[in-house]
Amino acid sequence: MVKAEHARPRTGTLDWRAAGAVNRLDEMQEHKMSQQRVSTDGGMQTSYGFRTVGDGEKQVLVNDVFHKVAKRYDIMNDVMSAGMHRVWKDALVASLNPPRRPGFRFLDVAGGTGDIAFRIVAASDRQATGTVLDINGSMLGVGAERAAKKGYTENLDFVEANAEELPFDDNTFDAYTIAFGIRNVPDIDKALSEAFRVLRRGGRFLCLEFSEVEMPLLDKVYDAWSFNGIPAMGKAIAGEAEPYQYLVESIRKFPRQRDFAAMIGRAGFSRVSYTNYTGGIAALHSAWKI
Ligand code: SAM
Repeated sequence: MVKAEHARPRTGTLDWRAAGAVNRLDEMQEHKMSQQRVSTDGGMQTSYGFRTVGDGEKQVLVNDVFHKVAKRYDIMNDVMSAGMHRVWKDALVASLNPPRRPGFRFLDVAGGTGDIAFRIVAASDRQATGTVLDINGSMLGVGAERAAKKGYTENLDFVEANAEELPFDDNTFDAYTIAFGIRNVPDIDKALSEAFRVLRRGGRFLCLEFSEVEMPLLDKVYDAWSFNGIPAMGKAIAGEAEPYQYLVESIRKFPRQRDFAAMIGRAGFSRVSYTNYTGGIAALHSAWKI
């Protein structure tokens, strides 16, 4: 009896400690999982950076981020990527190689402040016409102002809408581009199937996105800069660290190159391929609707 009585609290204490340890292990495991890239099975819909959020919540939070950063977006892009985003965007447009004759019509989704659309218009010798589509009026407002300054208003229109429900007829565009936008869209599969729907047969899909660094050492340097440097720069230049923390975390959640290529193929596209830039910091996925 005594032994048993003695044993009970002792066992109880041990159990309690063990349960605590298990809980902590679960928490650590959950924390680790929350930082892992999603696969082709999805998961971006409820990932706001490393946080898991409810259905429908991500877009609200993302919109808030881009409303906050819109006015400083362009300067922060240069700071965060040390100007590299310009090189990667130029490479996207070089790959598209828009014709220098009238009739080419493109859609730049999550087009924000217009960087990709301006480059396409310039590369076509002002022959191409396009739509810059974004869910965020603040980003589009900056884009429309920049377009007016560049004298591109004849070539471009700006549409506030969701990449998941494009307000266009089937088979409308010759090209669909999206740069650093798709990881912010909650339902990526839906956005990809909309891309496929609005492209005409023979149309080109090009997606530029931050991706998985596939170069040893560079990944360590990049991690240190991303998780320490970028939010700190955001605080110093834009007055807020949190939106930049989200941007960095969302980059780490996005599916790796091969998985994203599989998702593009699943949406119906053919000849899916990708090219890494700067060791995979960014990757350009290309595909065709045939
Ligand atoms: N493409 C521009 C560039 O490369 O500079 C802007 C990229 S910015 C990082 C991401 C953009 O995605 C923001 O302007 C944001 O409003 C937009 N976005 C987020 N969710 C979206 C959605 N569901 N549909 C359309 N645009 C969306």
